[in-house]
Amino acid sequence: MESTEPAPPTREGTGADLDGCVELLRKLLPEESLITDRQRVRTYECDGLASYRTVPAAVVLPESTEQVRSAVAACSEHGVPFVARGSGTGLSAGALPRADGVLIVISKMRRILELDIANERAVVEPGVINLDVTKAAEPYGYYFAPDPSSQQVCSVGGNVAENSGGAHCLKYGFTTNHVLAVQVVTADGELVELGGAVHEAPGYDLLGSFIGSEGTLGVVTSITVRLLRSPESVRTLLAGFPSTDEAGAAVSAIIAAGVTPAAVEMMDALSITAAEQAVRCGYPEGAGAVLIVELDGPHPEVERTFTEVWQHCDGHGAFEIRTAADETERALIWKGRKSAFAAVGRISRDYIVQDGVIPRTALPEVLRRIAELSAESGVRVANVFHAGDGNLHPLVLFDGSEPGAAERAEEVSGAILELCVEQGGSITGEHGVGADKVRYMGRMFTAEDLDVMQCVRCAFDPGGLCNPGKVFPTPRLCGETPGRRRGVHPLTEAGLAEQF
Ligand SMILES: Cc1cc2nc3c(=O)[nH]c(=O)nc-3n(C[C@H](O)[C@H](O)[C@H](O)COP(=O)(O)OP(=O)(O)OC[C@H]3O[C@@H](n4cnc5c(N)ncnc54)[C@H](O)[C@@H]3O)c2cc1C
Repeated sequence: MESTEPAPPTREGTGADLDGCVELLRKLLPEESLITDRQRVRTYECDGLASYRTVPAAVVLPESTEQVRSAVAACSEHGVPFVARGSGTGLSAGALPRADGVLIVISKMRRILELDIANERAVVEPGVINLDVTKAAEPYGYYFAPDPSSQQVCSVGGNVAENSGGAHCLKYGFTTNHVLAVQVVTADGELVELGGAVHEAPGYDLLGSFIGSEGTLGVVTSITVRLLRSPESVRTLLAGFPSTDEAGAAVSAIIAAGVTPAAVEMMDALSITAAEQAVRCGYPEGAGAVLIVELDGPHPEVERTFTEVWQHCDGHGAFEIRTAADETERALIWKGRKSAFAAVGRISRDYIVQDGVIPRTALPEVLRRIAELSAESGVRVANVFHAGDGNLHPLVLFDGSEPGAAERAEEVSGAILELCVEQGGSITGEHGVGADKVRYMGRMFTAEDLDVMQCVRCAFDPGGLCNPGKVFPTPRLCGETPGRRRGVHPLTEAGLAEQF
């Protein structure tokens, strides 16, 4: 796909002094923590959504909270925008740098500071890789529940910023349910603690507001996470269905029966083909859809519910049902699912990973309409998703070398999001809004809704220096309907916000 780099809103007239900022950064940081060489900073020009690219003016690689504070304070003093970046696996261009700004890359801050098993928690630096928390806790019989498919590479700081989910979030909830506290450097370089070491601190839930704020409220420098006891028993079932209709009906029946699996994942024929080619996961041959259902908990409960799940799959047309006999087979079943995004690269030169949510009961209709959209436009769509919570990940395939193909794929991708909103769902489930979906925010939220969110943002960052251009449409009222509010905004008038 061609670079669709959005023009960053200009900071002309804001008194921004990039040269002065870099000069100050040189004084405050060790030499190896600051990169300004044009070729070297290019390494960070995009995140996991490579169709957006911007080369940052400077990159800072802090090794401590104090260095993050120095970097942010320098930006604040000189009115320079900054963006935090963890591992850069985000799929909504949330960590897309600014050409007129500083990128603060947190990946060197990867120490597990405390493992407090007695209190079932750990304190980690934000650059710690998600899976490393589980690896550290596993010998004690504990694990960190949020499990994005990128868990081998994404950072816990990125998980907090995106409120990331994963296959097991159906039962265990998203990142927000597993974070007790964060330490944050706010846009003026102040260090604040949100939340606490125990649940339910009095006062406004600022921690809740921060989680999922996509790097627009400050830079996280430490995180206290909850650890869960590893389940006594886990059983994984793989079922092949003729089509997504039968598989969808089986999901509804399982949930309606009162069973809450740890995970219910669905893949359609196109994504099965891709996964088979990539990792030879041995999914049922000829399946129009597969379901992966995982149950965990006390042994007798798992055994009972497992039989129920089997019956629901069988009763809704599954032509093959298999259970993982051991950890190796379980890993292979999950390998197909977890490698699906990357695997699609084998069957299509380019693709867009979309992320939208619908009520679970709308699954059959939405999948049918996606198939219609695909047939009408000639754009192939592979579906891989968290069926249990209605979180879709349509993969919209195209060949960027074909004239107009990228635009057609974008159109289909946008139409799928419209469909999600129409069904009472959302334009993103777990991948965030970033720079990619700002144009859809106005479809979901009214101007007043967006104003309220901006009030929260302005309370943390009145100068708009922290990851500007993300989440909120620019101009403020969304590209599609600029200028509905005339005159000076009340927040500006009250001196609370310099700009939106
Ligand atoms: C193959 C693949 C599979 C994926 N599967 C899933 C999935 O199942 N579920 C899911 O939720 N996501 C998934 N993702 C998306 C992505 O991995 C997650 O959003 C992840 O949480 C991003 O972490 P990161 O460290 O890479 O963050 P980055 O991409 O570096 O940054 C993401 C956002 O977080 C902000 N940020 C990063 N660090 C900080 C910090 N210390 N302080 C403040 N803000 C910060 C950035 O500014 C940006 O807005 C997947 C991505 C890929 C490539």
